[in-house]
Amino acid sequence: MSRSRTSNSRKAQARRGIVVVVAGPSGSGKSTLVKRLLNEDRRLGWSVSYTTRPRRPGERNGRDYHFVSQAEFQRMIRRGEFLEYAHVFGLNYYGTGKNWIRQQIARGRDILLEVDLEGARSIRRRLPGAILVFIEPPSMAELKRRLRNRKTDTPQQIRKRLRTAEREMRAAREFDYAVRNDEIDRALNGLKYIVGAERLRVQR
Ligand code: 5GP
Repeated sequence: MSRSRTSNSRKAQARRGIVVVVAGPSGSGKSTLVKRLLNEDRRLGWSVSYTTRPRRPGERNGRDYHFVSQAEFQRMIRRGEFLEYAHVFGLNYYGTGKNWIRQQIARGRDILLEVDLEGARSIRRRLPGAILVFIEPPSMAELKRRLRNRKTDTPQQIRKRLRTAEREMRAAREFDYAVRNDEIDRALNGLKYIVGAERLRVQR
């Protein structure tokens, strides 16, 4: 093959972005980790999910989530606008928009997503090249403490989240990587190593 043909075919295979999916029991500290990673790695884009859950104090529409009504969410499902969606804790719908992510990857932009376990499984099926990272809380006792301290959930919601967490802990083996969040800086470094190594991967 001539040199020019080789370089043309290289151009045709412009680098596609990687998709890093972070999931784990609620209270594992994954949101804090994800925020810090996004701050420190400017090459990572954040996929803002859609949700029907009410906005919490301090949250901003379009930054933390796209807050939409049940009717709007159902309309988006019917139109096939989600890469994945889930009914989380049997309470509210959460979903990842499809088009934006596809465009970003095609442009070579790396994307970070935070979803529940069901969402991570759907993404594995729909985007087999996605990298799945499981964030483990230090222990169930610590998880319980974190959920209580957060003070955003009712005792009933906490019980529900803990039951979900117990089930989710067993799912770590379905993921590509697991990072234990016992110490935030160490866990953050773990995430950075994973993203760094995946960017150097030759074949996906
Ligand atoms: P929270 O209400 O605390 O912000 O999030 C509740 C749960 O919904 C978390 O486990 C979070 O990972 C999950 N979640 C957030 N966005 C999405 C999404 O787009 N898809 C799915 N499947 N889960 C999501």
